[in-house]
Amino acid sequence: MVDSLVTEVAENLFSIRLPMPFGLDHINVYLLKETNGLALVDCGLDLPESREKLDEGLARLGLTPGQLTDIFVTHAHPDHIGQLERLRGLAPEARLYMHRREYQPLKERLTDRAGVALRMENWLERNGIPRSSSERMLEMGVNSAPDIHLEDRLLEGGEIFRFDKPAGESPFTSGHAPGGWEVLWTPGHTAGHFVLFNRERRLLLSGDHLLGSISSNIGKYPGSTADPLGDFLNSLQQISHLKIAEVLPAHGPTFTNYRERIDDLIGHHQVRLSKIYAALGNGPRTAAQVVETIWGDRARGFHRFLALVEALSHLERLRREGRVLVEETPTTVLYRSA
Ligand SMILES: [Zn+2]
Repeated sequence: MVDSLVTEVAENLFSIRLPMPFGLDHINVYLLKETNGLALVDCGLDLPESREKLDEGLARLGLTPGQLTDIFVTHAHPDHIGQLERLRGLAPEARLYMHRREYQPLKERLTDRAGVALRMENWLERNGIPRSSSERMLEMGVNSAPDIHLEDRLLEGGEIFRFDKPAGESPFTSGHAPGGWEVLWTPGHTAGHFVLFNRERRLLLSGDHLLGSISSNIGKYPGSTADPLGDFLNSLQQISHLKIAEVLPAHGPTFTNYRERIDDLIGHHQVRLSKIYAALGNGPRTAAQVVETIWGDRARGFHRFLALVEALSHLERLRREGRVLVEETPTTVLYRSA
């Protein structure tokens, strides 16, 4: 079945294209229609049109959200986790899977929203963003965490799920399980991002880790890993060693030339490393000053936040390569070329 909303991208594996009101105008969520299970990978934004389209997509396949048995959230960004709470209300028996590293900062945000926001403001200030502009910058980012309850399985990476077990039984399988979906932890875009790989079918559900035409934001911020760009590049290398027939990404069409794409992405970040290094000039400079030099007025509001964390992940990589030195005072973090 092929139409703009629902596509059968592989046998009994459907993508449902949900709208988003941004420059990036859609997300693909995936439905695994298995022998004994109906699993959803990612949930779409929690906006009326996105909710309607998800239900409509399921209805076209003769299904309802209440029939979902398992929900995978590749990472906790609003377009991936947004409808989770609603879906759990409709399918209370459904099991939820999320990486442990993704859950930790999310839980912190839910239990101490004010504290997290304050720490974020302080952190932005030390990186050169004045308090007066940080509030607006964060409106979108910090307040978008849904109130979810996660007593379910938290993933580490390496788990395998097989959906041909007796109905009602958990698809989680320990040890080798041919035909199953394997969780591969791919930190970088977020600390707990994971992808699902089916070794026998050679299919990779790549989330935001590997996209065909856009490069996902790789940022360093409170709650990220210590070296997000290094982790991202390592996770890409890990994927390039797999034998994949088709990559099924969260944004854009499916693709097969993944090794070429991985080389492009590595090249893209090498160029960005050089640009950021050059922007330090004779330094020392804050990350915000680096952003101003490179992006200027093109990055405003939340985009400025994304540019800042992207600059910081590259500065950290340069620091680890010995090309950049960091000077920290209680009020500022300054970078200079080594
Ligand atoms: Zn994302």
